Amino acid sequence: MALPGHKLGQTENLTELENLNEETLLAELKARYDRDVIYTYVGEILVAVNPFKMIEGIYDVSKSVVYANMGDRSAEPPHLFAVADGAFQAMVNTAPGPTANQVCVISGESGAGKTESAKLFMKHIIYLSTKTSSNAEGNAAHGLEEKIIQLNPLLEAFGNAQTLMNDNSSRFGKFVQLRFNASHHIEGALMSDYLLEKSRVVNQGDGERNFHVFYLFFAGLTDADRERYSLSDPEEHRYINGNDVALGDISSGKLGPMYKELAECIRIVGFTDQQMNNLWALLAGILHTGDIEFGGDEEAYLVSADDVVAKCTTNLGIVQDVLVEALTSSINITRGESIVRKYKPYEAEDARDAMAKSLYGKAFRWIVNQVNKLLGPKTKRMNPTDKNIGILDIFGFECFDVNSFEQLLINLANERLQQFFNDHIFKMELDEYAKEGVDGSKITYEDNTALLDLFMTRPTGLLALCDEEALFPKGSDKSMVEKFHSNLHGKKGYEKPRGNDPKFTIHHYAGPVEYQAEGFIDKNRDTLPIDVVGALRLSDNDLVRELFEGDTEDAAAAKKGKGKRDAANAKKNLRKSMKKAAKAQAKAKKTTVGADFKDSLIKLMAEMSNASPHFIRCIKPNHQKAPGMFEDEMVTKQLRYTGMLETTRIRKEGYAFRPTFGDFLHRYKMLGFPFSANPPATAASCTQVLDKAGITGWQVGKTKVFLRYFHIDELNEKFLPF
Ligand code: ATP
Ligand code: MG
Repeated sequence: MALPGHKLGQTENLTELENLNEETLLAELKARYDRDVIYTYVGEILVAVNPFKMIEGIYDVSKSVVYANMGDRSAEPPHLFAVADGAFQAMVNTAPGPTANQVCVISGESGAGKTESAKLFMKHIIYLSTKTSSNAEGNAAHGLEEKIIQLNPLLEAFGNAQTLMNDNSSRFGKFVQLRFNASHHIEGALMSDYLLEKSRVVNQGDGERNFHVFYLFFAGLTDADRERYSLSDPEEHRYINGNDVALGDISSGKLGPMYKELAECIRIVGFTDQQMNNLWALLAGILHTGDIEFGGDEEAYLVSADDVVAKCTTNLGIVQDVLVEALTSSINITRGESIVRKYKPYEAEDARDAMAKSLYGKAFRWIVNQVNKLLGPKTKRMNPTDKNIGILDIFGFECFDVNSFEQLLINLANERLQQFFNDHIFKMELDEYAKEGVDGSKITYEDNTALLDLFMTRPTGLLALCDEEALFPKGSDKSMVEKFHSNLHGKKGYEKPRGNDPKFTIHHYAGPVEYQAEGFIDKNRDTLPIDVVGALRLSDNDLVRELFEGDTEDAAAAKKGKGKRDAANAKKNLRKSMKKAAKAQAKAKKTTVGADFKDSLIKLMAEMSNASPHFIRCIKPNHQKAPGMFEDEMVTKQLRYTGMLETTRIRKEGYAFRPTFGDFLHRYKMLGFPFSANPPATAASCTQVLDKAGITGWQVGKTKVFLRYFHIDELNEKFLPF
């Protein structure tokens, strides 16, 4: 309990600060950070301020030992391991069911430390679960745990990249669930991924990089590999040559060991050599794809030399003529007649980049699926005695100079998570009141349901309107925005801008964001020309063919054409393949990126509602990614985003200060009893003090006094008669 004279930076749970507001929160966190204390509780929530340096010993085994089976969390300084232990013990001590399942929700902006926190959380859970497994079952499981740990470097290689915000930024969201059997040993891990930023494959902002794996791959190439994949020097491949520092890292040999590490972890997780060879060929194929250039005024033609295309098609296992045809024109086959439309150069470039993005996106998804096959529990459905612990490491709220469709979806997810957080924190507050027998009917909180409705309502919510326009062949970004305006203008949270630009503003819980609608439809449709799909379905790279659901026999037939170098035959094969692809597409339900995302968000929330939540709020203390720097304004902003201030507000509107009877009397008994008296720590003694002091509006619970924030000042004034 933070009684008068407490030292700044000594409070381990900030709700114990008697004067809880933006300034006191900040001052406390800062004073702790200056002493290398990065973890602090706000109620049940853990706040973690990124130290940007390794703090000696804080994740040592000795710490794992201390934060195991703790019972009382406040017995040790705040720590991420304590949260993991709390979750694990809660699971162990609860009968199977929604309350036994746990979920750890990690939030914060890019570079705040979410992924590092997620890894530490997982590491400690695994430590706790293996600690007791000395029997055969436990030993057998150890191999699995090792694999689960190795999963991170693999996913980071393919899903992370260096950005201006973070040298190891996750460019996808992930939710990992560890499943436990009745004796609390890990049975498997299941993971879901969200919204991989595929556009990074073909285009990176200034000072940013492509996904790590491209550089690692280059760094690890032997001369034989280089020949096998027909790769030139890295600076000659357009998709990765935009960043000189990255190229320097390849040539300096710095990345070599990291490639070895990646290769080792791929082996441990359980991928076969054949699978990996196909995957590396696919990656090389993507790099070569980027080097194919087109020219022309009206009709696109191939500018690059034939061998540039050949390098691409050899790696992707497709026929050269077929690829060129698919990238420079579209064939419309109706009633047996085919009408060829030649692309304009920019359309050919778009088709080329769309192919690279699609290959990478599908390969990433394949890796995730493969990992689930290798590490997942034997049965997809949970046994009645099973329990699970989930860890959510997902992109934080985003507001850039230009915000597009990706930001809209990311911010929608954050809005939904904020609602989850509000519901839970609010509920916890009321539970505490109920436990103490105190009336909580005055507690209200700002909920964001209306804003979520703005997104989710059918058929007139933002997402539904996006889809309507995307599925309409003549849909345009402009007419979509007009639909937004006419359906949503006047609704809470929606703002129509002045002028006619295709823009709109949403007032999110974390602040207003202006969205530029240009490109929404294409991003939402995310289609690859059917001609390109047709070409890739004929691949003799098993992985490429699988990703595009091609047929082995068709591919073999196409290969014969390739052998004869017969262009006409190749084209015939392509048309056949396209027809099949079109048929398959027509059979499948038409969907959009937005609709898929909404579905996965609903599934995620269902999993989360089926578990007891734990919140970790990561804070990035400076823009420089530097240790020892704490920028007040930046931290304050994040305390707002992450709902910390909301938590304090709820406390403020309710009973902010809740000393136990003993603590209260220790401090204030003089206001109600003679100096020498020693009243018992009971509700009656406390009531006597409060009545005598003339304070109104408090409540007395079963073990604690519930005081409003201003009561403290009122009580303190009684001590100071002048
Ligand atoms: P993004 O949203 O971009 O993925 P993130 O929140 O996942 O960001 P991390 O990648 O976890 O951020 O952290 C960024 C960097 O901060 C790490 O690479 C590491 O250098 C440092 N860092 C984070 N947490 C810690 C920690 N607990 N101790 C030491 N360094 C840390
Ligand atoms: Mg991350």
